[in-house]
Amino acid sequence: MPRSWPALDVHFPAGREADRDEFSGSLMALLDGCGLTAVQESDEGWRLFFTAPEERDRALALLAASHPALQPAPIDVSDEDWARRSQEGLGAVRVGSICLRPPWVASDPSASSTIDLVIQPSMGFGTGHHASTRLCAALLQRLRLAGRSVVDVGTGSGVLALVAHRLGAATVVGVDDDGDALQAARENLDLNGAGELVELRQTDFRSLSGERFDVVIANLTGGLLSRGADTLCGLAGDPGVLILSGITVEEEASVRASFEPRLSLAARLEEEGWIGLCYSAIG
Ligand code: SAH
Repeated sequence: MPRSWPALDVHFPAGREADRDEFSGSLMALLDGCGLTAVQESDEGWRLFFTAPEERDRALALLAASHPALQPAPIDVSDEDWARRSQEGLGAVRVGSICLRPPWVASDPSASSTIDLVIQPSMGFGTGHHASTRLCAALLQRLRLAGRSVVDVGTGSGVLALVAHRLGAATVVGVDDDGDALQAARENLDLNGAGELVELRQTDFRSLSGERFDVVIANLTGGLLSRGADTLCGLAGDPGVLILSGITVEEEASVRASFEPRLSLAARLEEEGWIGLCYSAIG
């Protein structure tokens, strides 16, 4: 039987288009901890994907109680449907000197200095079409990664692990607790000839304590970053670098309060209502 994905369709209220970014931020904050794995955006609203039907139903109850105007509607999306819809609108995404493109978009031969990465859209979050991924890719390009060890916490599609590898990191580990995400990451590593060069591990990142990396990337949610601050700071060691994203404008202050007693802010970027932070700096 073909697999299907538990999802919720949420309709953006007519006439409130200007509030869209703010709204998506508060939606993500509300659904933090509900097993949200991917968000597909359209003109009408969002399709939210969840790890399990029970998580979706919990999110439905929350939304129906707090935002009935969004008319949240449950839907089970078949695998083929997901692939078809993903492929409909996606083009290449450019972040600094990096081009992230789906396999059906040809590489740009005129951009010879570009790092060209092919990312197959899948249930592994991270095609480059979400601002939080782009913020991390932009911050990574500000570091000198040659000779450094990098861990990508919540690797999803593997996109940021691949970016770190192509920017010259000596070792890269991608960690995710979701088996489907890791399967997608494995496919993307292979598509880009990096299958043997990036290590993937299926585990909750909070079980990684005791290890040290020069650079830690974590594109998660504000709530999860704050709750995992001890582990993330420990992984980055001293003087490590920590790149954080998946933070909404509304969550920024509380996330920063969890990290700033221990680390100093080196860079902050904002895009479409999302924040990317880089703590400490290496030369
Ligand atoms: N790094 C990608 C994907 C980010 S989405 C990008 O930037 O686009 C966040 C990912 O974190 C998801 O794949 C999710 O499965 C994973 N994740 C969530 N909680 C986790 C946890 N506690 N431990 C490990 N991975 C987790």
